[in-house]
Amino acid sequence: MPEHRGQSLTESPRGRFAPSPTGGLHLGSALVALAAWLSARNQGGPFVWRVEDLDGPRVVPGAAEQQRDEARWLGLNWDEGPDVGGPHAPYGQSERSDLYEEALAQLAEAGWLFPCRRSRKDLRALATAPHGRDGLPPYSASLRPKTLAPDWFARYRTATRPDAALRFRVADGPVTFTDCVQGAVTENVAEAVGDFVLKRRDGVYAYQLAVVVDDLAMGITEVVRGADLLDSTARQIQLICALGATPPAYAHVPLLVNEAGEKLSKRDEALTLTLLRDAGVTPEAIVGWLAHALGQLDAPSRVSPSDLITSFDTARVPAAPITVPSELPRVLRRLAA
Ligand code: GLU
Repeated sequence: MPEHRGQSLTESPRGRFAPSPTGGLHLGSALVALAAWLSARNQGGPFVWRVEDLDGPRVVPGAAEQQRDEARWLGLNWDEGPDVGGPHAPYGQSERSDLYEEALAQLAEAGWLFPCRRSRKDLRALATAPHGRDGLPPYSASLRPKTLAPDWFARYRTATRPDAALRFRVADGPVTFTDCVQGAVTENVAEAVGDFVLKRRDGVYAYQLAVVVDDLAMGITEVVRGADLLDSTARQIQLICALGATPPAYAHVPLLVNEAGEKLSKRDEALTLTLLRDAGVTPEAIVGWLAHALGQLDAPSRVSPSDLITSFDTARVPAAPITVPSELPRVLRRLAA
């Protein structure tokens, strides 16, 4: 696969933030939102808010609205999104199934898909290779069906209960791309994960499919997101190329980790925007601390996002995870005072 450098800067830039509505924002998700917003605004581009609510059981009622309220409180805004509408509506993935089906049909037509009835248990049992990231061995090309009936996809689509996942035949060889923050990245998808799932056996569309279809349909030229998604990027680039499109530019911003070195999560409750706000911390103090973490300010100070647009530079964003000290809420309260 040829080296991929992302879309040229001469195209009209469009950025996005695409949170899963599993809870309110915490400092880590706020860092991503701020970086994505600043990068789009710095290039004069519009900013899209998309709700990634495909994983039904993980969706928390009211969380999508709460995330937007908190982002607005921080001083962010968006030109398109579920609450403001826009030319690419709807902006919630659970309402975009038609587009995912169209993309699957296009991929099937071009020979990129096959149905798979193997369960996780089957795959674990087959494993001689070391297990990959999701606890399963990479799905090897040797597991692909040897032949497929020419009308297999039509029959799959019209079946009342298809009872098969759809997998993507990954291309051999490394995918290389230059991330605006993490630098040169090379990944061999066949060795790392193998043929990955685009639609689950229970009918749920996979994140990898939905994110690619939506970023393309919404004309996103730059994907700014957390570094935990860096290892999804090569898969997404393969998928985008299979759909005959050009990948966006990527910038994977550092993860915020707690003192135990774990990615901030709901458990780090004191670092949610709700609790920080309740504790009297101001949005300007949070934004100042985040801007410092993003390498945009020499020291944390009180600022609003719009103060940072002109000087924002992805080249200054550090790549390595940033440890959030447990006394941060106190530090932010002092900064706010
Ligand atoms: N929905 C993902 C999340 O909340 C982000 C996906 C993306 O930005 O590509 O972590």
